[in-house]
Amino acid sequence: RVLVGTKVDESHANWVTAYNMLTGIRVSVSRTNAKLDRPLTDADFEVKQKSTFDIAGNELVPSAKYDFKFKDYAPWVFRHLRALFRLDPADYLISLTGKYILSELGSPGKSGSFFYFSRDYKYIIKTIHHAEHRFLRKILKDYYQHVKENPNTLLSQFYGLHRVKMPYGRKIHFVVMNNLFPPHRDIHQTFDLKGSTVGRDYKEEDLENNPRATLKDLNWLRRKRHLELGVQKKQLFLEQLQKDVRLLQRLQIMDYSLLIGIHDLEKGNEENLRDKTLRVFNPGGSKAPDDFDPHSVLMRTPSKLENQRKARELRQIIQSEKPVPMGETSSRMPDELEEGQGRSGFIFNQDDGGFRATHEDNTPADEIYYLGVIDCLTHYGIIKKIEHFWKGLSSDRSQISALPPQEYGERFINFISKVTMSQEEAHRLAQEEDAA
Ligand code: ATP
Ligand code: CA
Ligand code: CA
Repeated sequence: RVLVGTKVDESHANWVTAYNMLTGIRVSVSRTNAKLDRPLTDADFEVKQKSTFDIAGNELVPSAKYDFKFKDYAPWVFRHLRALFRLDPADYLISLTGKYILSELGSPGKSGSFFYFSRDYKYIIKTIHHAEHRFLRKILKDYYQHVKENPNTLLSQFYGLHRVKMPYGRKIHFVVMNNLFPPHRDIHQTFDLKGSTVGRDYKEEDLENNPRATLKDLNWLRRKRHLELGVQKKQLFLEQLQKDVRLLQRLQIMDYSLLIGIHDLEKGNEENLRDKTLRVFNPGGSKAPDDFDPHSVLMRTPSKLENQRKARELRQIIQSEKPVPMGETSSRMPDELEEGQGRSGFIFNQDDGGFRATHEDNTPADEIYYLGVIDCLTHYGIIKKIEHFWKGLSSDRSQISALPPQEYGERFINFISKVTMSQEEAHRLAQEEDAA
């Protein structure tokens, strides 16, 4: 069975953390959004807004169930970023904090970061290392400028940067970002591509047990896969990718990847419709197996009733001091999912929230891609230099993944460019190769 996340309820080990994260977001985001909009100033990028929560509460901070401290970083910058990404402020708050429901994915990567989905699967909370946190603050202005100039950027969309600290606990930094994959579409295959081949292989024999595992560069090549985009879409895609990678190179970032979720229109959504229950992934564990599948959940069009309920909830969130009911029953989760209309107006979300494959002549083909550049907060710092040194001793230097940012970006772009072509183009190329 495909697995998607463990619901974080009151019996979950990370319940208090999740509760505090959501309470902090709810209070600080509604505080910022309640004010009249204004242009950003340089100082906005440096702001840290601290709140202390406790059971008593005070005139600035409503009472909370647990004692904790919350920091909101550059709240106005993120408010503006959310607007640039065309999020509806009310929707954002409701999705994340309307009910205290998250599902935890554990930590699918090697970094130890934890991932949580909002109950409607639109948003992901990722815990990040202190170094990543510091780095994001440092590059925030460049990132903001880039998003302003490139509304269709493929880079991860950051919606908030926060920190929680429990009494005697350590500081937990986290970002809120977009889930690239839609709640309403089955993703039949997922690839995480870096353009490197060393160690970039998901064991094919393990696929039997994990048919939806995230595959990597070597699996892609082995399947002779292509990102099937005809002339027009290919150009749009590669041009944007190039601009995004230029930024990452300039900011000395590496280790990012292109995440591609493929929806096969021939298969459609059948598998989802057969399994209406929330699938459970890595129950209680922290270190997840090297795969994960954040989609494949049932979708449903929101009814009028649901919209009314939403409006009610929002009023509740904004007006009441009390957090909304916690720990609703787990069976509710799939009900919360609704049609992901996609982000209207964005190029790479134009086809049912994604980017539909095309033939050479730009007519539609049978796949929809959901894609973006993820994990882009790794600065080419000391750690990577060490890794480079060690790996360099044992492997071909140009193939290892910890290249300096300039080379990393070139290799990344080269790889993705090479595999982006329509079926027709790929077919011709194969014939030419056979002939030669
Ligand atoms: P590492 O540093 O070891 O690569 P990490 O903890 O930094 O791991 P990421 O690379 O950011 O984790 O993500 C790990 C996996 O989580 C990705 O391969 C992808 O399957 C999933 N994932 C990450 N971000 C998103 C996103 N925005 N939308 C959908 N899935 C995502
Ligand atoms: Ca990664
Ligand atoms: Ca990482």
